[in-house]
Amino acid sequence: MRGEDIAVPDAVRALPSVDRLLLDERVAALTRIHPRPLVVDAAREALGDARRRLRAGDGNGVVGSLAEAVAVRLERATRATLRRAINATGVVIHTNLGRAPLSSAALAAMHEAGLGYSNLEYDLEAGSRGSRHEHVAELLRRLSGAEAALVVNNNAAALLLILSALARGREVVISRGELVEIGGGFRIPDVLRQSGAELVEVGTTNRTYVADFEAALSERTALFLRVHSSNFRVIGFTHAPALGALAHAAHARDCILADDLGSGSFLDTTRYGLAHEPLVQESVEAGADLVCFSGDKLLGGPQAGIIVGRADLVARLKQHPLTRALRPDKVTLAGLGATLAHYLAAEPEREVPVWRMIATPPEQIEARARAVIATLGSAGDGFTIEDGRSAVGGGSLPGETLPTRLLAVPASLDADAGAAALRRARPPVVARIEHDRLVFDLRTVLPEEDEILATLLAAHLP
Ligand SMILES: *Cc1c(COP(=O)(O)O)cnc(C)c1O
Repeated sequence: MRGEDIAVPDAVRALPSVDRLLLDERVAALTRIHPRPLVVDAAREALGDARRRLRAGDGNGVVGSLAEAVAVRLERATRATLRRAINATGVVIHTNLGRAPLSSAALAAMHEAGLGYSNLEYDLEAGSRGSRHEHVAELLRRLSGAEAALVVNNNAAALLLILSALARGREVVISRGELVEIGGGFRIPDVLRQSGAELVEVGTTNRTYVADFEAALSERTALFLRVHSSNFRVIGFTHAPALGALAHAAHARDCILADDLGSGSFLDTTRYGLAHEPLVQESVEAGADLVCFSGDKLLGGPQAGIIVGRADLVARLKQHPLTRALRPDKVTLAGLGATLAHYLAAEPEREVPVWRMIATPPEQIEARARAVIATLGSAGDGFTIEDGRSAVGGGSLPGETLPTRLLAVPASLDADAGAAALRRARPPVVARIEHDRLVFDLRTVLPEEDEILATLLAAHLP
């Protein structure tokens, strides 16, 4: 490198100007596909990069590949960065990887709704204005047993709306054991403050009784809030009031009981050997006046916040100005409707990817892993199948896991380097490192992705 100290300035000086680079045949061809200002920007950046690399003594071949560098930069600049990824982590509802993959029917409905116009806010019978909130309300009423339903952008929005519309300037009673942070800085006390409601904490971190709530009641109390401790578990000497008893105490004093279920579910998770995740219909049945939950956690649909409950309260929520700011778009409503229909048709385990993944037995996961190894041929030497655990994730069922079978790369392979190489692949693969070994849990890989995964493993692992 040192020997180049003198040569470098010459090489830098020899770089073409932006104008001359634009005359290069291959770069000129790009100006016929892309707007000229974009190509000029890319050329300027490519030259800047070449200059830096030459000065750093890292300029091998930069001059010859300038046109290519412009093309690569243009490609990057004109494409959105959100792209499909293969989730081999075994975490079914992986918030960082986009939570729930959607069912074919949901995707088809979303495509249809996005392709043309729709009756989003148009009453086809009357030929006049209708409400977007009606499209999934009936499905939600049937599934939950509640009188009414409303959909907003996500469950954080649902909670903010409930508190803003029903408790602003008044008191909200909540157990100290439920003043949680859900993640991404979303903390229950902060949401309460934002809504203009006043927080009244009762009980202790580990034990809270109905009597604690009753003692906190005053004419200023607007509602009791129960929040599901989605992402952690308190074990040992604990007590939380039964929802039915809390409802009883609230109703005796004309107070509202709201239940934030977090994930919520319409299907019983104990069928898969998991702990019980609260069911939406159970909360409604127990007497919660409003129940809110996410569309893209265990429901397995698009991002949404769903509120079900008493008709008079839902009507008040609909009239609140925030509802306009939090309303879902037509594509979401279409996908959500199709997802909910799977539950009415009693087919979520077959059709909703989240449930299909949860229900997949380890033997089936192992068979797929073996098929990937077979596809690899001699490149698969040293790969093994190991016992492991998958997680549900998404702030549901903390600490609960499902037995799985992991595809493990040879122990001799540098796990960090392998993981990094796969993250850079197209499509990127996100794997897991366990005991210094790179492993893949095919539970969360879509079966149609198995072959691509094998190809990527062959191409990207040393
Ligand atoms: C996940 C979660 C939320 C937030 O739901 P989003 O749909 O992600 O906005 C709110 N409350 C609880 C208890 C949760 O687990």
